Amino acid sequence: MIQTENSITNDLLAVAEKSVLFTARRPDIVMERGEGMFLWDTEGKRYLDFVGGWAVTSLGHSPAVLQEALSRQASTLVHASSGYYNKPMIEFASLLTGVSGMDKAFFASSGAEANESAIKLARKHGAVYMNGAYEIITLANGFHGRTLATMSATGKPQWKELFAPKVDGFKHVPINDLDACFAAVTNNTCAIMLELVQGEGGVNAVDEAYLYGLRKICDMYGMLLIFDEIQTGMGRTGKLFAYEHYGINPDVLTLGKGIGGGFPLSAMLTTAKYDLFEPGEQGGTYCGAPLAMAAGYAVLQELLERNLAGHAEVQGQYLINGLRKLSLGFPISNIRGKGLLLAFDVPEGTGTELAAICLREGLLINSPHPAMIRLVPPLIVTTRDIDDMLHILRRAFEQLNTQ
Ligand SMILES: *Cc1c(COP(=O)(O)O)cnc(C)c1O
Repeated sequence: MIQTENSITNDLLAVAEKSVLFTARRPDIVMERGEGMFLWDTEGKRYLDFVGGWAVTSLGHSPAVLQEALSRQASTLVHASSGYYNKPMIEFASLLTGVSGMDKAFFASSGAEANESAIKLARKHGAVYMNGAYEIITLANGFHGRTLATMSATGKPQWKELFAPKVDGFKHVPINDLDACFAAVTNNTCAIMLELVQGEGGVNAVDEAYLYGLRKICDMYGMLLIFDEIQTGMGRTGKLFAYEHYGINPDVLTLGKGIGGGFPLSAMLTTAKYDLFEPGEQGGTYCGAPLAMAAGYAVLQELLERNLAGHAEVQGQYLINGLRKLSLGFPISNIRGKGLLLAFDVPEGTGTELAAICLREGLLINSPHPAMIRLVPPLIVTTRDIDDMLHILRRAFEQLNTQ
């Protein structure tokens, strides 16, 4: 990016380098403002956003309903204590359990916390009803978060040696291999935990027969079946929850990302049968805090009212069709995903390059691996946005060829 000497952006970047702890390679831009499908940086440059804050900004950037809900709640009550009920907490728990078919909701701020909660609930279940069983089976290439326990649950080969010693009690098995899962079950297993479409792992969906098999194994041994729908939930895959595609219900469901539309919020839902925590065993300062609850309620109501899950299904199909057409002229392969959680493969090494060219051209796309592009735009995306996106992507492929 060409910037004038001493621009505001350069000053900010210098301060960032000096004072922000390095945990990610970030491009030399500073985001300043968002509206709908677009973000603007401090140079006033506009970006069409097909990253959506990593499947978070489901209603687009700074949606009116979220602004209103937050300012209304902020002027009423920002925080009491998670030791007291508050009105939005009760209202949101009721709405969320109602639409998900679950009975009970626990709220937190990040996906990792919701999964920690699910892991603790599974171990509690094991301790009380399964002779102390504590092992949880998860999938290779899954992703469950970045706390110590959720990193241990995550089946990412690159993380294997990190931050030793790992939290004990997780076994990873390959996706869609029922025999491998069966073989991993012992007297010590209390739960199976998985994503229905692996998000970070590359947008790989589980098969229907496989999921049916997992449900049966869990029922047979009295183990919990935990669906991590932090990325797939809240309309992302074309249904409100991805498990609706399969018609198979979990015992525990975790939600995050899109649930707050950008406000930090996550949830763990379960059935009345597994309402097992004693006071003090699970909680947190911000669990069920009024602002987050008001945000979650407003986002869910908007998702339902506008049927954004249905919209995601239709737009996802349109996007897939566009990518198929583009793949006739460019090296795009293995187009996959559900709703607006999509990915495709590109030649090794070019994913990162493509994302960088698109950034220059004013389009945000995500390359989770150097040979892959993932698309997770806000659920409000229109066919026109998709046409614009495909146009820029085509130009990026053309530039890639001439470089
Ligand atoms: C993002 C993600 C998480 C972790 O959520 P955080 O809010 O980053 O803690 C867990 N599971 C899945 C499937 C995710 O996509």
